[in-house]
Amino acid sequence: MKKTILSLMLFALLTSCGEPTKPYPDEIDNSNIEFWMPIDSNLTDDIQIVRHQYTLSYSSERGTPNWVSYNLEENWFGSSPRYEGNFKSDPMIPTGFKIVYHDDYTNSGYDRGHLVRSEERTNADSNNIATFYMTNVIPMTPDLNRGPWLDLEYYCEAICKGEKKELYIMAGGIYHSNTWINDKVAVPDSCFKIIVIMNKDEGIRDVTDSTIVIAYVMPNISGIRNEDFRQWQTTVDRIENSTGYDFLRAISTEKQEKLESKIYPIKIVKTTD
Ligand code: MN
Ligand code: MN
Repeated sequence: MKKTILSLMLFALLTSCGEPTKPYPDEIDNSNIEFWMPIDSNLTDDIQIVRHQYTLSYSSERGTPNWVSYNLEENWFGSSPRYEGNFKSDPMIPTGFKIVYHDDYTNSGYDRGHLVRSEERTNADSNNIATFYMTNVIPMTPDLNRGPWLDLEYYCEAICKGEKKELYIMAGGIYHSNTWINDKVAVPDSCFKIIVIMNKDEGIRDVTDSTIVIAYVMPNISGIRNEDFRQWQTTVDRIENSTGYDFLRAISTEKQEKLESKIYPIKIVKTTD
């Protein structure tokens, strides 16, 4: 008993020092989760799926990913054609958990909205195909998916290629409205994206108080096809409060507090075609 209290105190002391908790083995040398896996207080609905192309946490209850985390820089872009088949159920979901299929979205009115965009994994056919697992998609209205969400994706592509940036991206849905497709797939009422913008080949070791972190929460509604995504910039703190997940946990608490509470005034040239 005494030992327990002592180790609890030690734990409290260590965490209060602002040092991040230890990484999981999968997080070591994995640029898709450079800032480690976001975690929440309930680990029972987090099925972690680690691939070369991304890492995600799948919610069997919702039938959608809690978050997808991935690295993006110019070398991920190439000339592989967009995979043309149906989206695929994810073979990495363990037995006994909900499997979502391509047809579960058919006629729902929602797009199968990629979180890692197809175009962002075009340096090899196998990398592109991996974005077509149903665990990498959430129900998005066509207006969001093909409008402001896509514009933000264009922006990411543009700074990777044009400004030689290296991005660490975490994206997912926020679910407060209890909307479902056929009682099987939960529909988020908004979609979030957190983007850490670094120079090429920079990573966790290069994080400072002025590292650029931008975050967006966009409403998953119709009628916003031509809206400017920049109006939905927000803080990481707000996304953490809405989702219950702690993001960027590889960064010390002090730095997280600074980086997650700011809205970075960055100049974004709208890149819509
Ligand atoms: Mn999309
Ligand atoms: Mn955090």
